[in-house]
Amino acid sequence: MSDPRWRNWAGNQRCEPSDTVHPATVDELAATITAAAQRGLHVKPVGAGHSFTPIALTDGIQLDLDRLTGITAVVPESGRGTTLVTVRGGTRLAELNATLATLGLALENLGDIDRQTITGALATGTHGTGARLGGLATQVAALTLVTADGSVLRCDAEQHPDVFAAARVGIGALGVVSDVTLRCVPAFRLRAIERPGRLAETLESFPETVQAHDHAEFYWFPHTDRVLTKVNDRAEDGRPLNRLRFLLDDEVLSNGLFRVVNEIGRLRPSAIPTINQVSARALSARTYTAPSYQVFTSPRRVRFSESEYAVPRAALPDVIGALRGWLDGHDETVAFPVEVRVAAADDIWLSTGFERENAYVAVHQFNKRPDQRYFAAFESIVAEHAGRPHWGKLHTLDAARLAALYPRHADFVAVRDRLDPGRTFDNGYLRRVLG
Ligand SMILES: Cc1cc2nc3c(=O)[nH]c(=O)nc-3n(C[C@H](O)[C@H](O)[C@H](O)COP(=O)(O)OP(=O)(O)OC[C@H]3O[C@@H](n4cnc5c(N)ncnc54)[C@H](O)[C@@H]3O)c2cc1C
Repeated sequence: MSDPRWRNWAGNQRCEPSDTVHPATVDELAATITAAAQRGLHVKPVGAGHSFTPIALTDGIQLDLDRLTGITAVVPESGRGTTLVTVRGGTRLAELNATLATLGLALENLGDIDRQTITGALATGTHGTGARLGGLATQVAALTLVTADGSVLRCDAEQHPDVFAAARVGIGALGVVSDVTLRCVPAFRLRAIERPGRLAETLESFPETVQAHDHAEFYWFPHTDRVLTKVNDRAEDGRPLNRLRFLLDDEVLSNGLFRVVNEIGRLRPSAIPTINQVSARALSARTYTAPSYQVFTSPRRVRFSESEYAVPRAALPDVIGALRGWLDGHDETVAFPVEVRVAAADDIWLSTGFERENAYVAVHQFNKRPDQRYFAAFESIVAEHAGRPHWGKLHTLDAARLAALYPRHADFVAVRDRLDPGRTFDNGYLRRVLG
């Protein structure tokens, strides 16, 4: 008999759904939802389980859309150079990227992995980096939502614009997104430049760096003043990454050796600052060119927990300075680098980018070590700067606090009241963040 319990990728969230259903058509999906609603059961679509928060947990019917995958329509937009691609909700980003490539298309921006489902990634406001580019949800031109009463609602900027503004980052509260139409761009290659540097100079030049490049980010190694900066720009051609170098950097150093480092750090946490000094000094520069989606995403095999907050860009030096000060003043040790990215402002109600140009600061801890004290300190630092949490990454904020951070929080709740008055899609996380 298969184990009825479900757990997320990080292993920090578990639940026992009463049943898991794999609908193969939208009719089956709608029928499952209405039947569950009539029996008073909760329903929760689940993606790839890559959220760290309890956002995907349910005690009711878990909906796995792994039979609702693939691209259903490809329509060029005349005069814009873009193409509208409709994809079923259960499609994983890896499959989507590969299929788009065969069509000569790509997503304009991506986060740093491709394991998620497209709808799971959208639901939590998943983003990559780029000062002029918004999160994944800004690439959505339309979506289809199956609501608690079984209605199938097609929404875009003209049809049901309020639902569209809410459901692009819908935190799984409004219904099940059965398909989504993405505005895709012609396939492109990126030249990636990775360079070690010092924290103070990197922070000082970061505002110019993010303007000068299509995509820019840096990783700061805690307990050191060292960083690794990554910038990616569109390029016609260039040297591909040598397979051996890829294996060394992305598999051996970022995954294999990094796992060993973390296991040592678990047994001897006090060794971590020295290990970080050594590994940060061993960083070397590299430049390569590859198809965009291969540059954006990389394998992440060492499991961790994570918290990430968006702060106004001007607050970044203060946030990093305070985090560094806290680590210096406490015996907490952290092997995982702190990741810093940026994104453009957008108009999506529960997007971290709602009407604000942000820097994103993400803190991680090995999943076999406690994270509460570090993450709590981080949370109190970003609270000073109106930090908005990533919906899929650990945070403790409740509805009252979130309503103060998101000007359209009440509007989102009103759309939810209308679409799901019986709270079919409810769970503990939504009760906390929506009230
Ligand atoms: C290793 C790792 C790297 C990551 N990198 C990044 C990154 O670079 N940038 C970033 O922003 N985030 C990143 N994340 C976070 C991740 O992108 C989000 O948590 C994302 O939501 C996970 O997608 P999923 O398919 O696993 O969804 P799940 O975690 O399974 O579900 C998330 C939410 O989506 C809802 N949902 C799923 N399918 C549907 C549907 N069809 N209709 C409506 N709601 C639905 C679920 O109910 C739930 O509420 C990373 C996470 C991990 C573990």
